Amino acid sequence: RFVTLEGGEGAGKSTQIKRLAERLRAAGFGVVETREPGGAPGAEEIRNLLLGGGVERWDSVTEALLMYAARRDHLVRTVWPALDQGQWVLCDRFEDSTRAYQGAGSGLDRAVIDALGKVARGPFAPDMTLILDLPVAVGRARAAARRGANDRFEQRDDAFHERVRQGFLAIAAAEPKRCAVIDASRPLDEVAAAITQEVERRLGV
Ligand code: C5P
Repeated sequence: RFVTLEGGEGAGKSTQIKRLAERLRAAGFGVVETREPGGAPGAEEIRNLLLGGGVERWDSVTEALLMYAARRDHLVRTVWPALDQGQWVLCDRFEDSTRAYQGAGSGLDRAVIDALGKVARGPFAPDMTLILDLPVAVGRARAAARRGANDRFEQRDDAFHERVRQGFLAIAAAEPKRCAVIDASRPLDEVAAAITQEVERRLGV
């Protein structure tokens, strides 16, 4: 099974991935935890190119090309082999982040994203996507508590992050069978419980 976690910064995706992985391992499943951009040696190098130079370094199409190069490498080297071995793959961000950040946030044409997706992954898609939703101000406060002020989040204004949030919610509304929206403004334990419930309901585990 391929499960992706999506949402804005400060939503707690990485914590929740760890919790979900622990629960699945305790139930006897093999689990790979991974992330995008990155998740394989080559893809991590591309991640450094993408996130290292500030938000103005790449124009939006170049940024998308790099994202999809990283995605392809991640799928080929990490995700597909693990799924072939019968493992669960839990991924921190996937294509919905491209749609939300580069698409809804930065205004990149949907047709460009769809075309690159077709090349990089074909018809492959997550079995389930958890969209961790929270107000921009709450995410900003959590992100600020965790990182320095020069972080990528801080380089973009609230309007950008609001477009990203609405982008994720629009994806969830368009694809309710794949996507579950989780209220991530609640305490960690409550969010983890909501995720457990959705995974049980949708994937039977
Ligand atoms: O929250 P996380 O650590 O996964 O995000 C890493 C950084 O990459 C964030 O600042 C996020 O805004 C950015 N990002 C992006 N476009 C994507 C995925 C992540 O700008 N498609």
